[in-house]
Amino acid sequence: TIKDINIGALSPMMQHYVKTKEEYSDCILFYRLGDFYEMFFEDAQTVSKELELTLTGKDCGMAERAPMCGVPFHAAEVYINRLISKGYKVAVCEQVEDPKQAKGIVKREVIRVVTPGTTLNTQALDETKNNYIMSVVYLSNRFGIAIADVTTGDFMVTEVENIRKLLDEIYKFSPAELLCNEAFCMCGADMDELRNRLHISVSTLENWYFDDELCARTLKEHFHVGTLEGLGLKDYACAVIAAGALFSYLLETQKTSLEHMRAITPYITDKYMLIDSSTRRNLELTETMREKGKRGSLLWVLDKTKTAMGARMLRTFLEQPLIDKDEINGRLDAVEEINRHEMDREELREYLNPVYDMERLVSRVSYQSANPRDMISFKTSVGMIPHIKKLLEPFTCGELKKVYEEMDDLKDLYDLLDISIVEDPPLAMKEGGIIKEGYQEQIDHFREAKTKGKTWLAELEASEKEKTGIRTLKVKYNKVFGYYLEVTNSFKDMVPDYYTRKQTLTNAERYITPRLKELEDMILGAEDKLYALEYDEFVKVRNQVAAQVERIQRTAKAIARLDTYLSLALVASRNQFVRPKINTKGVIDIKNGRHPVVEKMISNDMFIPNDTYLDNGKNRISVITGPNMAGKSTYMRQSALIVLMAQIGSFVPADKANIGIVDRIFTRVGASDDLASGQSTFMVEMTEVANILRNATSKSLLILDEIGRGTSTFDGLSIAWAVIEHISNTRLLGAKTLFATHYHELTELEGKLAGVNNYCIAVKERGDDIVFLRKIVKGGADKSYGIQVAKLAGVPDTVIDRAKELVEELVSADITATVKNIASENRKPKTKPAVHYDEVDMEQISLFDTVKDDDVLEELKSIQVDELRPVDALNILYRLQNKL
Ligand code: ADP
Repeated sequence: TIKDINIGALSPMMQHYVKTKEEYSDCILFYRLGDFYEMFFEDAQTVSKELELTLTGKDCGMAERAPMCGVPFHAAEVYINRLISKGYKVAVCEQVEDPKQAKGIVKREVIRVVTPGTTLNTQALDETKNNYIMSVVYLSNRFGIAIADVTTGDFMVTEVENIRKLLDEIYKFSPAELLCNEAFCMCGADMDELRNRLHISVSTLENWYFDDELCARTLKEHFHVGTLEGLGLKDYACAVIAAGALFSYLLETQKTSLEHMRAITPYITDKYMLIDSSTRRNLELTETMREKGKRGSLLWVLDKTKTAMGARMLRTFLEQPLIDKDEINGRLDAVEEINRHEMDREELREYLNPVYDMERLVSRVSYQSANPRDMISFKTSVGMIPHIKKLLEPFTCGELKKVYEEMDDLKDLYDLLDISIVEDPPLAMKEGGIIKEGYQEQIDHFREAKTKGKTWLAELEASEKEKTGIRTLKVKYNKVFGYYLEVTNSFKDMVPDYYTRKQTLTNAERYITPRLKELEDMILGAEDKLYALEYDEFVKVRNQVAAQVERIQRTAKAIARLDTYLSLALVASRNQFVRPKINTKGVIDIKNGRHPVVEKMISNDMFIPNDTYLDNGKNRISVITGPNMAGKSTYMRQSALIVLMAQIGSFVPADKANIGIVDRIFTRVGASDDLASGQSTFMVEMTEVANILRNATSKSLLILDEIGRGTSTFDGLSIAWAVIEHISNTRLLGAKTLFATHYHELTELEGKLAGVNNYCIAVKERGDDIVFLRKIVKGGADKSYGIQVAKLAGVPDTVIDRAKELVEELVSADITATVKNIASENRKPKTKPAVHYDEVDMEQISLFDTVKDDDVLEELKSIQVDELRPVDALNILYRLQNKL
């Protein structure tokens, strides 16, 4: 291994390699040798294994050859990305002088370090997601957090006071890479969970990174301010350290000045609705639980953005719902105003079509890595801005006015790019063909010389042919000899004496003449100079754009915001969403609400809408019963999603909604993916319940599904019961809660605990079977229909029949009586059942009462299907359905 090497015995180049590798010991070192990046020793072994590359060896002065493996330099990005995605860091060591000019070994330096959180390669990144790197510092009971995205220049800081809130932030941003101080590793965060489950690359940085003076200085220098107050960071001592450490790390890995990071934004976590990690997963906000894909998530329904910037902004909206009424209404106003002008909406979205990811583009400009095509994409994007602004001008709501004002038409940059760079430039930067004619005199001059040179050569060939009479004489070119005249052997004797022989082939001779040499100098010189000049001019233009990074970023954010509102507006109008009213009184009143995702997944118009009503008084807790598959969890999730959507500023799937702002949403639902973490399902369930009861407030919304399912019936029932008692007690908690349970014993609590009401999801019995009506109605289910559901699922008849027998026997043991007793002993004042659902009429309730539809069956049986016309069939179906 590399540690056992006797450095003195190595060749000078390998000595340099080993020294460099020591400096970057936590990285895989890509060492440039000619047209390859080579890796040696352990790196070679790792990479050959991870990327399935052939392992070879190199003589390096020792007895044994050093293990070596390499990748061609032009394909390096692909290999680097694959290593990054596997969590490695890669240090790229480049030749920094021209090998032709080098005396001794070529000078090489590490020019950048690519890490999961700092990769700039946009092909490897999901453009609809930010690629965050986060730094966390733990100092005496406080956590400082800094988050950056080097691809967009976003940079934020905050502080939280406990590990739970820290984890919430980590989940919210789900960074690709996390940096921390040593103290953090001991504060109780589950590092394995971060690494293995969240796939975050975690590194502990050395202590000097977190030196408070150094950190403050780094930030002040970068942002050119005298005091931290100037950055709004006066009260963020801890966050300043996280930010400073992050900045040092970025400077070290990126090896550029990070000019595109122009602002640092402190934010307060309490400004947003708090959604804990399991709720994020359970509500499937941005990805589904099972497939981890976007399809089937709320984001999937809401995201009709046209630009990558918009897609990222919408995702951020979703990850950070608001809790301020005015801010929410501000967003809703924008969505509403856009939908009042549907034509403009469509036109605006069309203008956004050709708009590229300006945010990431401008980062590449700052990094000096943007190529000519990037600049043309940028120009095309900027070209759309005047059209967008023109349409936007008449809009009056605050948010859209702000978008209009922040959007700079960047005309100076458009004009600059328009006169300087050709419309369809090559990707390469050093082979000319970039700068437009008429932009720079010298470029035009050399370009002319280059073209003319070709004519001169043709003329020379013709005149030499004539002079010498050699019919096969040709002017040719190769890289080694430059231009030469080629004469086939049969004409060799006719060559005049002013030809100088350069090379002899088997069937021809190659010559030069003074005139040809002169032309060659002119042509090749012109080409070299042309390419160099074009490159210089291109860099100048690019730097002029880089100098405007702030204006561009502000404009990009305005475009992102507009795109987000357009998307919310379009989705609202396509899906018949309505504008929610927002209140601060804690009333959640949803009329005919729908689940935004499920309604898309099932065939047209089959989704049955339902009402939700919760308040701070008599309707705080709904205990929801009904058999499995009835639709309980769909109903509860839809209620939570509607509240959340309202708070991000989206219209909601309902006929009408009045949403009281909630500060947090907690969910406890089925434990589908907890198994992976190795804890028992019940343990996980109880940990989550504990977290909810500790952290919820009276302004929170709780979604609790089947609490107590993971243990024995009596334990489970008792725990569920006690949890409801705790929540319903306003002195202890008093949070609004939807509580689904299959313990119908819990329906006894209605009228005995303040604020508790029973609901159930109606089913209808037909003979031995049940039909799901999917309608929530007041009252409790008195049966669980488990056996019927089992039958629906295809459990064999013998088992079903036996189960029925057993039920009979068990029912006679009657725990219900006991439960009734306990409930009536309850010390709470007895209130009358609060029936809020005045509109739940008797017909609905009778639906729940099991009805037999004998007459419908009779009619069905009597139909002569063969003789029916399709239209009659439809009519009959319609009539029968109405009878149900
Ligand atoms: P539960 O939680 O009671 O076991 P679910 O909420 O999982 O039941 O619902 C079971 C299935 O019923 C869902 O997959 C969904 O397709 C369907 N469903 C639920 N609610 C509705 C509804 N309101 N309208 C139409 N289909 C629904």
